[in-house]
Amino acid sequence: RYLQRVRETEPFIGAYLLVDDQLVLEQAATIDQKRQRGEPLGLLAGVPVSIKDNLLTKGFTTTAGSRLLQRYQPPEDATCVKRLRSEDAIILGKTAMDEFGMGSSSENCAYGVVRNPLDLSLVPGGSSGGNTGGSIRQPAAFCGVVGLKPSYGRVSRYGLVAYASSLDTVGPMARSVSDLTHCLTVIAGPDPRDLTSLSEPTNIHDFLRETEEALSAVAKPLRQVRLGIWKEALEMPQLASHGRQALEEALRTLTSLGASIIPISMPRLRAACAAYYVLASSEASANLARYDGVRYWQMTRRTRTLGLGAEVKRRIMLGTFALSSGYVDAYYRRAMQVRQLVKRDFELAFQQCDYLIGPVSPAGAFALGTKAGVDLYAEDVLTVPASLAGLPALALPCNPKATLPTGMQIMGRYGDDVGVLRLGIVYE
Ligand code: GLN
Repeated sequence: RYLQRVRETEPFIGAYLLVDDQLVLEQAATIDQKRQRGEPLGLLAGVPVSIKDNLLTKGFTTTAGSRLLQRYQPPEDATCVKRLRSEDAIILGKTAMDEFGMGSSSENCAYGVVRNPLDLSLVPGGSSGGNTGGSIRQPAAFCGVVGLKPSYGRVSRYGLVAYASSLDTVGPMARSVSDLTHCLTVIAGPDPRDLTSLSEPTNIHDFLRETEEALSAVAKPLRQVRLGIWKEALEMPQLASHGRQALEEALRTLTSLGASIIPISMPRLRAACAAYYVLASSEASANLARYDGVRYWQMTRRTRTLGLGAEVKRRIMLGTFALSSGYVDAYYRRAMQVRQLVKRDFELAFQQCDYLIGPVSPAGAFALGTKAGVDLYAEDVLTVPASLAGLPALALPCNPKATLPTGMQIMGRYGDDVGVLRLGIVYE
């Protein structure tokens, strides 16, 4: 059924770079044989999963949306892909993305533009599944699904094509917070092959089941919860009025469930976005230096000229400049200082509240071909603060009945992924 759906919709949407029917049916047959033999099945048995094309997936080319890697066949699976397979999920295919994760609209993919399935004239958001500065939350908000950027280190980065290593965070998108939680349970956890992965084991699933049971017994499950409302975000002039109304409605729902609401000021919105682009480009320029063409199939100059798209080249140059000896203090170090200030803002905020709520993006999905350069960077102002601070942040639709969705963002303390998910489940 899924393969048929992909065949019907792909000519209009272009979400996949690769779907191999044969491979899908083989995986399904293997799981079915297991079932017939009476062997125990995994937590995600038979659940179709699509993998963003920056996660190494054995048997599938892994291009990260770049021409440079168009023939790259990974020798093994990324840790999270391996974990999905070992729980019997079925890998449906690899999804399109802005080249190396650099973009906010999925218009920067070397293999074509992706369209928003809710309205084909709009962008679906970008860069899609792996989140450096908003690539999970923003597309989830644009397409009316839920997406979680876990705490930095919660999911192993082993086998992820690196963009900006201190920001890169792997996370799931799904239809509901509870589906998303199942997926996170499988992919989260320590990994000796990623030294930044959090060492504490995760038993998110058990924890949530218990809380779900406990929650169903109480009338006001959020009685003890203090929700901070991100003032500057809600007051942004660019915020679409239907978005503001939808968020206010969501806040009324949360209050009726017992939560108290506290306005919180975090004024460093624009500085955070500027710092993010300096830092992400600097790290990208170092990470992408490995694609020198020598170990692949062509020599450096030709490889880069032909293989990399304009946005990737722009970032490499920006990052190399920000790190160069005469400018490193003025740009890179300055941006690192801003990052510390953003972290401090969050720490102060979380002394007053348990979770912070705000919109995901200023005005939701925009028309294809209408934004480029710095205008596109400005789309990320609301998502990059949590990325800079490494905090868990959940995006979920807060006006499910409207034709175009508005995303609400729930940010939590570092490591409190479960708390963020629980709040999402209660709301849902
Ligand atoms: N739009 C942001 C960027 O281009 C974030 C993308 C991402 O999270 N991978 O850097």
